[in-house]
Amino acid sequence: MKITNIETFIVDAGWRPWTFVKVETDEGVTGWGECSDGGAPHGVVGTIEDLKPRLIGQDPRAFEARFWDMFRGVRQSPGGIGAKAIAGLDCAFIDIKARDLGISVAELFGGPIRDKVRVYWSHCGSSRVRHHEMIGVAPINSWDDITALGKEVASRGFTAFKTNIVLPGQGGTWFSGFDGKMGPNDEWAPNWLVGHIEKLIGTFRDAVGPDVDINLDLNFHFKPEACMRIARALEKFNMHWLEIDRYDPEALLQIKQSTSTRICTGENLYYMRDYIPYFELHAADVFMVDIPWNGFSQSKKIGDLAEVYQLNVAPHNYYSHMSSYVSAALCATLPNVRIMEIDIDDVPWKDDLTTGAPEIIDGYMTVPRGPGWGIELNEEVARAHAWDGAKMGYSKSMAPSRSF
Ligand SMILES: [Mg+2]
Repeated sequence: MKITNIETFIVDAGWRPWTFVKVETDEGVTGWGECSDGGAPHGVVGTIEDLKPRLIGQDPRAFEARFWDMFRGVRQSPGGIGAKAIAGLDCAFIDIKARDLGISVAELFGGPIRDKVRVYWSHCGSSRVRHHEMIGVAPINSWDDITALGKEVASRGFTAFKTNIVLPGQGGTWFSGFDGKMGPNDEWAPNWLVGHIEKLIGTFRDAVGPDVDINLDLNFHFKPEACMRIARALEKFNMHWLEIDRYDPEALLQIKQSTSTRICTGENLYYMRDYIPYFELHAADVFMVDIPWNGFSQSKKIGDLAEVYQLNVAPHNYYSHMSSYVSAALCATLPNVRIMEIDIDDVPWKDDLTTGAPEIIDGYMTVPRGPGWGIELNEEVARAHAWDGAKMGYSKSMAPSRSF
């Protein structure tokens, strides 16, 4: 079997791009991968173009061999955009191999070891406060709206959710680590903001009761000093995790050791090499793994390595349904999964973009049965929502309402 064509699609998913790669073969088997990156989709598809000459004519079923071919092509730019390009292609090759065998990817990798995976409603309130009109829901204007949203999460059967620093009535979230709209973005937290976060999580906790798991994502917005103050302020809410992105494992460990609030990290790390320093230190309680950024074959290795260190992993998955299928497949090949991310509020045509949509029952997603991932892109819908390149992804954060 030989690769005959590689094609990419960048889709305008409302407030961020989704990126897909299609790989065709001389035997008529086609594979799909998602490698969505909010900030640099053209860099990802450009790198896929640069990798094409190494891949056309090669056998996609030897996906480990192809990984190393691609890795050698971009190894002088480790991680980042190069890894994301490889990830999409790696997923497409694995899809082809499993489809050719007539099995699911979970079966190809020795599973399934579970038939459903617990999911949490991600960007809960964050998407609504930023883009309620696009989603087709009521805005988040008040603390009562936060209470109502918490009750909606529970009534729809979810047992866990994740939010960002939602600013009710201000049309956005605190997102300073990504866009610098807050003026001097020095990654510290004024007292009023720590108080605001405490009120946000407290309002959610009162709405959902003690047994629904709450995650809060601080992303890259704060230095460890601020993270520690926030983590301590939230201890009384018994959170499922406080999520922090830092590229310094010692800093993560400092935060973790300062608080009883559980810490999650890892979504921006690449391959086992990046994870090892964090694993060695046990610098966090839970580690996220992003499959559209690492590829499936490397994500499986990261997950297995986490098991060696007695750690749970959680797929980082805030993309299209294709990524949800791929992430659920990973969960079906690992024995150390905590929970899986999924976005519920989204563009109204999300279900039309792919040939399937996740089945979620009582807060659990059914593991797809394949063949391959069990899902493909609807190319017509993708072309109808092409990313125009002039937009900035995730551009809906707000300036602080009080002096910073
Ligand atoms: Mg995160």
